[in-house]
Amino acid sequence: EPELVGDFGTLMVWADKHRRMKVRANAETPLDCQVARQFGAEGVGLCRTEHMFFDAGRISAVRQMILADDEAGRRTALAKLLPEQRSDFQSIFEVMAGLPVTIRLLDPPLHEFLPHGDAEFADLAEVTGLGVEHLKRRAGELHEFNPMLGHRGCRLGITFPEIYEMQARAIFEAACDVADKSGDAPIPEVMIPLVATRKELEILRALVDRVALEVFAEKGRTLEYLVGTMIELPRAALMAGEIAEEATFFSFGTNDLTQTTLGVSRDDAARFLNPYVEQGIYPRDPFVSLDIEGVGQLVEMAAERGRKTRPGLKLGICGEHGGDPASIAFCEKTGLDYVSASPYRVPIARLAAAQASLG
Ligand code: PEP
Ligand code: MG
Repeated sequence: EPELVGDFGTLMVWADKHRRMKVRANAETPLDCQVARQFGAEGVGLCRTEHMFFDAGRISAVRQMILADDEAGRRTALAKLLPEQRSDFQSIFEVMAGLPVTIRLLDPPLHEFLPHGDAEFADLAEVTGLGVEHLKRRAGELHEFNPMLGHRGCRLGITFPEIYEMQARAIFEAACDVADKSGDAPIPEVMIPLVATRKELEILRALVDRVALEVFAEKGRTLEYLVGTMIELPRAALMAGEIAEEATFFSFGTNDLTQTTLGVSRDDAARFLNPYVEQGIYPRDPFVSLDIEGVGQLVEMAAERGRKTRPGLKLGICGEHGGDPASIAFCEKTGLDYVSASPYRVPIARLAAAQASLG
């Protein structure tokens, strides 16, 4: 751990002796994973796979998939992504060397993948062989007035199961390949985003389990893995008892949970929340430090209801609050198993977790 030497390193060793909660990192590149490990992360708590889709070629493949005519068209469009995703996950598993890695299936707002302007439609028509008029009509059907409250997260996985199938296959193929090559078998934790109902999770968990069995049969081996869900909508927190029937872990997505509970856009909040905090209307910025009195109650409720259904339910937090000391103290009190923060906040999180345990 070259970054944590000298007195700071010693302090960290002391802190770790007293810490109950594990500390993981939010990371989606091998480099971020490496930094996270150097700072002492004990796993990846959130790999946002949509961050692997900034490349124009990948956006185009997903675009072709969502605008395709039928299942065969969707599968053809996705075929080129499978080896790319497999290699993405393989390099993350390699760096994390047997530590748990939570991979969240795709969660973009759909509009990020829709074509805009005549040139993009013309290009797409050429690649897919579908007419521009057809593509425009299909894109019109998928247009949303409020994409952040629309067709994203698991809803996308229900409408276009092929994309989650491709990702699940890439995860399990990569995990088997890494396990065959090294002694450190990866422990993939497949996470479904934006779940609001048990049924959504039931459908998608069945999909992931089916793909896992297919891959294990092809590879002639099995691996330990988990399927779980984000808890990032108030309904999911309320219905956590039911949702836990389908989940072996919950990860609290407190960014969206704060946004949806307060009815405040996380992207525009600063404009009016700063004066709000100055005037004491909110005691702290709720997007930085968990609104313990409000949103925190949903977290507590979901933890309690989830564990009533499934006593061993693994609980973590992967919203920005997972790197905030006051929120970490709350997580300790609530009995979470781990916090997950951006790699550079891992040392702070280790200290805060130790302080919370001692407290
Ligand atoms: C969250 O909503 O808290 C979360 C971790 O997911 P994202 O920030 O990617 O929406
Ligand atoms: Mg979210």
